Amino acid sequence: MSLKEITTRIDAAARTAGRVSDDVVLLAVSKVQPIDRVEDVLVQGHRVFGENRVQEAQGKWPGLLDRFPDAKIHLIGPLQSNKARQAMTLCAAIHSVDRPKLAVALARLAQELGHCPELFVQINTGEEPQKAGVLPDEADAFVAQVRDMDLPVAGLMCIPPVHETPSLHFALLAKIAARNGLTGLSMGMSSDFEQAIAFGATHVRVGSAIFGARVAASV
Ligand SMILES: *Cc1c(COP(=O)(O)O)cnc(C)c1O
Repeated sequence: MSLKEITTRIDAAARTAGRVSDDVVLLAVSKVQPIDRVEDVLVQGHRVFGENRVQEAQGKWPGLLDRFPDAKIHLIGPLQSNKARQAMTLCAAIHSVDRPKLAVALARLAQELGHCPELFVQINTGEEPQKAGVLPDEADAFVAQVRDMDLPVAGLMCIPPVHETPSLHFALLAKIAARNGLTGLSMGMSSDFEQAIAFGATHVRVGSAIFGARVAASV
């Protein structure tokens, strides 16, 4: 599917939900994609991308940023504290803040660097043992803890369990965000971004629907 088709579908989903498409940021998830596909999307004018590994992003983006300096990279995958510095230098947003140790590292670096990317707290809405993210019951306390470190919390992020109805997870994420006074909702992927928009998504993370199937599995 083309970038244009995806943005048209985002517009339509936003309108159906009584929202405006400017309220929904499309992250083109470029992880593991051949560089020419990424360039093609940049040439079409898209500027916001999602990457799930710091190391991969660091290999790919410096060269692309030389040519497209206004491109923005959002980290959507797990972040180790020892890679926090690289992530903060390269990324405009981090969607995977999920534990105190990482928040402490980000807070220290924010002081040192004098800036901080937009941060999203990842919630493990399906309470899956193998998945990253804060449990729903612990979300309020963790958001408060991150805010106490003077970090800018833009919103929440979730990745629903593969075999469950995503809407239930989108609704839960929206509910946790609302009671914490957060407006950012990073949710929705290739197969369910329209549903996510119906539940208030402000950032949809769409990979394969834009770029085609990934050559190697990455999640
Ligand atoms: C890979 C990935 C996506 C995009 O998945 P698609 O199904 O290809 O759209 C979205 N979010 C995260 C966290 C990912 O790792």
